[in-house]
Amino acid sequence: MDQLAHATDKIANHREIGLTDRPGARSHREDASLLNSRDSGDERTQGFERRGDKEKLRNRRGPNDDTLVAYCEVTPLALDEDDSVRRSEPPTELVGGDEAPDATTEDEDRPGRHQKVIILSAQIVQAVFQPSLLQLMVGRRRRDQIERPLRELLDPGVELVEAEVRSIDPTARRVETTVGVFAGDALVVALGAEPDRDAVPGYREAALDFFSPEGAAACARALEGFRGGRVVVTVAALPYKCPAAPYEAALLLDDELRRRGLRERSEIEVYSPEPAPMPVAGPVMGAAVVGLLEAKGIRFHPGSRVERFEPGSHEVVLTDGSRVGYDLLAGVPPHRAPAVVRGSSLAGDTGSIPVDRATLETHHERVYAVGDTTTITLANGKPLPRAGIFAHRQGLVVAHRIAATFAGQPAQDEFGGGGYCWVETGGGRAAFAVGEFFAEPDPTLSLRAPGRSWHAGKVLFERSWIGGRIERRLARACLALGSRLVGVKATI
Ligand SMILES: Cc1cc2nc3c(=O)[nH]c(=O)nc-3n(C[C@H](O)[C@H](O)[C@H](O)COP(=O)(O)OP(=O)(O)OC[C@H]3O[C@@H](n4cnc5c(N)ncnc54)[C@H](O)[C@@H]3O)c2cc1C
Repeated sequence: MDQLAHATDKIANHREIGLTDRPGARSHREDASLLNSRDSGDERTQGFERRGDKEKLRNRRGPNDDTLVAYCEVTPLALDEDDSVRRSEPPTELVGGDEAPDATTEDEDRPGRHQKVIILSAQIVQAVFQPSLLQLMVGRRRRDQIERPLRELLDPGVELVEAEVRSIDPTARRVETTVGVFAGDALVVALGAEPDRDAVPGYREAALDFFSPEGAAACARALEGFRGGRVVVTVAALPYKCPAAPYEAALLLDDELRRRGLRERSEIEVYSPEPAPMPVAGPVMGAAVVGLLEAKGIRFHPGSRVERFEPGSHEVVLTDGSRVGYDLLAGVPPHRAPAVVRGSSLAGDTGSIPVDRATLETHHERVYAVGDTTTITLANGKPLPRAGIFAHRQGLVVAHRIAATFAGQPAQDEFGGGGYCWVETGGGRAAFAVGEFFAEPDPTLSLRAPGRSWHAGKVLFERSWIGGRIERRLARACLALGSRLVGVKATI
């Protein structure tokens, strides 16, 4: 799912909830280990009002006075609205939705009616909450529980345009799309990272690719017919998004096989080119995750580079010549920047977009990039992992900066590199990692031991993103309360 899909909604309403700085705040009783611990640092909330900002944002004017422009997440681009000049074919059929009144009509009554936030997305039909692909792959979720039409997730006043972006001209803050040309006073590129399933021969045919809804559902179907055997989770090549995903997948597969009474007849192994799980987090975190795997009898094979997959013989051939047989193969595909990003002048050496790590601005003024499409190098030389939690926070920072700029105020919000993630361990439990990735010389992270309450938090997190409207609100309220109780700063 496009992790940024709520950020526009939340330009106004988001709150940084943090009790680690509250006198007397206690850590959760399930906290078991603190790895590389360090103070978490301050979340930034200054410079933006906490309430009523939605109205203010809508009514602010952009530098061109008549044209708002604001912010676009999920996919790219924020633009102004001058249909007659800049947009060749207005995609009127795509505006609004059941829970989103026609933005144009609503805006007619507003003083700043030319202000507009437009999202261009190639995936309007269904937004997918990607972390729950892991639950889908073991049959614990149906697709309709983790997908929702993107338009239902947006705030009234946000226009959604179904379009594929064909080219980006950052100098003019202009994009060409399948439905016309758009230009804006600010441009936000949030195109994610795309799976490159043909990068390693045979991957597409061999693997149950749980990084897609189709692949995750196929994995669940394969499990239905599975009678025990060798289960292999493989990272086909680097880089990939969500560093915990292959390890969570192995732990959830273990849990599911136990539930079905097949675990004793099965082996589970994880093969990855990485030297340790989640290497950006350092060796202590890696060892902790290996410990979680070993506790379930899951073997981890670091430094395993795949040369090719042989679906016919059910084997993975590694670059050292060894062959790994499997009965069920769950795969993590390699990733790369989308072609339109790679082909733009925004792209750096890796094809992703280098940005100022605090402001998310590219080397073009008022052109920003957030999320998986960016590359941010940490003090230890490793890249910031690709994760939705960062995409979300970065989207908020960019939204605030654009709003401040248009209001003629200094833009103060900065991305501080804080983040957290759940590691589902099965049995209704999850571990929880929280850390500061901009810490020097290495990120500082703590890992909370697996517990039911962390898993409950993950479920709430899922519902806060992809549930129905009321469900989302309730889940956010519970998350806000829960994060206070456990002393974790959360962006709600
Ligand atoms: C199995 C799995 C588990 C995960 N678990 C977690 C987790 O627990 N915690 C966490 O923080 N993160 C997790 N992630 C990662 C998280 O989902 C991503 O980091 C996040 O979605 C990135 O957001 P984004 O907006 O940058 O990119 P995306 O969400 O990928 O959105 C990019 C959008 O741009 C669209 N697009 C691309 N090219 C074009 C074009 N040319 N024109 C128009 N539209 C285009 C795409 O279709 C897509 O809709 C997980 C991911 C997976 C696959």
